[in-house]
Amino acid sequence: MSFSKLGLQKSLIQIVNQLGYETPTPIQAQAIPVVLSQKDIMARAQTGTGKTAAFALPIIQILTLANVAEHQSSPSALVLTPTRELAQQVFENFKQYSESTNLRVDIAYGGVSLNPQIERIKQGCDILIATPGRLLDLIFKKVVNLSELKHLVFDEADRMLDMGFAEDINRILAKVPNNRQTMLFSATFDDAIFKLSKTLLNKPKKIEI
Ligand code: AMP
Repeated sequence: MSFSKLGLQKSLIQIVNQLGYETPTPIQAQAIPVVLSQKDIMARAQTGTGKTAAFALPIIQILTLANVAEHQSSPSALVLTPTRELAQQVFENFKQYSESTNLRVDIAYGGVSLNPQIERIKQGCDILIATPGRLLDLIFKKVVNLSELKHLVFDEADRMLDMGFAEDINRILAKVPNNRQTMLFSATFDDAIFKLSKTLLNKPKKIEI
């Protein structure tokens, strides 16, 4: 299996090759073609399996081809993570993978002052990586507008529920268009995740590695 067989364009394959990725991991091999086809996904994968690239590479490709880089504060893609640490890892990966594009990637998480994040996001944001509480602050301050959102990722969704973010997730969902692609990644599938998936996903492709 090679990255080019999955439908990724040459510029992205070059970047991952430079990072030392030679072949796709199992979650990448299964998820990348589905994400590129813009279908919803429900994927069971732990951290360390290469799950970030499984959603980041196809999202970057779709947004590059759609030429969305408008540098406004209405992101086309949003990745929600339970913790600041995961947000930072996902952000670093998106920055590396989108290096040769003009997409703007931003990050927002709680526990630090709001203003620097506001200033950066106001300069334009195509892809936003955020923790739920801080994202809601930014929405209510009218810094972030999710009305243009096309791709929504829940990363480590089981941890998000364990940490009590169900209510915040519902508040965020009320602000995003129904006409969107949604991707749920979770280390475990249990009743709570299936319940969440029913409110989030439209005929998802299930992937378990
Ligand atoms: P993740 O599960 O997304 O946290 O990724 C775990 C680590 O694997 C990260 O350091 C990635 O840079 C790396 N990685 C992701 N995809 C590949 C790949 N296809 N080949 C080699 N390393 C990879």
